[in-house]
Amino acid sequence: MRTFFRTPFSKRVALTASAAAMFAALAAPIPAAAQQKFVSIGTGGVTGVYYAAGGAICRLVNKDRAQHGVRCSVESTGGSVFNINTIKAGELDLGVVQSDVGYNAYNGAGQFKDTGEYKKLRSVFSIHPEPFTVVARKESNIKSFDDFKGKRFNVGNPGSGTRASMEQFLKTKGVDLSYFSLASELRPDEHGPALCDGKIDGFLYGVGHPSANIQDPTTTCGAKLVSLTGPVVDKLVSEFPYYAKVAIPAGLYPNNAQETNTYGVLATFVTSADVPEQTVYLVVKAVFENFEDFKKLHPALGHLDAKDMVKNGLSAPLHPGAEKYYKEKGLL
Ligand code: GLU
Repeated sequence: MRTFFRTPFSKRVALTASAAAMFAALAAPIPAAAQQKFVSIGTGGVTGVYYAAGGAICRLVNKDRAQHGVRCSVESTGGSVFNINTIKAGELDLGVVQSDVGYNAYNGAGQFKDTGEYKKLRSVFSIHPEPFTVVARKESNIKSFDDFKGKRFNVGNPGSGTRASMEQFLKTKGVDLSYFSLASELRPDEHGPALCDGKIDGFLYGVGHPSANIQDPTTTCGAKLVSLTGPVVDKLVSEFPYYAKVAIPAGLYPNNAQETNTYGVLATFVTSADVPEQTVYLVVKAVFENFEDFKKLHPALGHLDAKDMVKNGLSAPLHPGAEKYYKEKGLL
């Protein structure tokens, strides 16, 4: 947490003041109200759910800013991998990350094999499920993932959790990006328009539902959700603890009356062991003490259950600030 001290106007010294008065003014303690603390949350693209979830958290923290003096700000970022790296660098205090990416970071696996384990990663709580969502252009007549072979597919921007999971999927399938004629790296706010403009045939996005990002192409150009099932998914789900099979309900999006079967992860809220206990305590308290409001701030948050959030899908140990609050409230 970065702390900024603001000198109140009353302490600003006119040029005409004597040196003695000036020193006295400078030495005077700064009142608590003038001491602003800032806490930052890394999220994802602006049309995804992370950005909305981070915004909801900050809104609840900022509601009581006059009492605690902490100002929460949310940042749109490249996604999970970027958030972990930036928390590690001390440039973000908290972030939303996919549970598989968090697991790999903590254990130095997958995309973190070269950088090594990040043992200071701490869990705060888990949030919504994120099914890996495959979307195809209506005209492409794609029926399953294998139909994308030799086609133009958006594999996600570098730094996103989507991209990290996509690469794990392809690796398990025994192929690489050359499976596609074009593996584009558009950001989530770009893949829908590119699909509707006929620039790509499909994309993958690990995202909560319902999401504006999926609502747009399904409404605008009748884009189709494609099931992601079969031996590769079975293998991934049986091998890795953070994967589970999930279904996107029938009729959730326009032009998609069918249920879509796939697999996915949980979105998790994480931080670093270096972030002070009282900061994390305050953030967690703001969310759980306003839990019904939190759930209403985005439809993908509507089914959250506090008891699950404090234990499911957590890939790193709980931060002491979070643990303290959960114990006080009997959630643990
Ligand atoms: N799961 C995505 C990622 O880590 C972000 C999803 C979102 O922004 O809602 O890249």
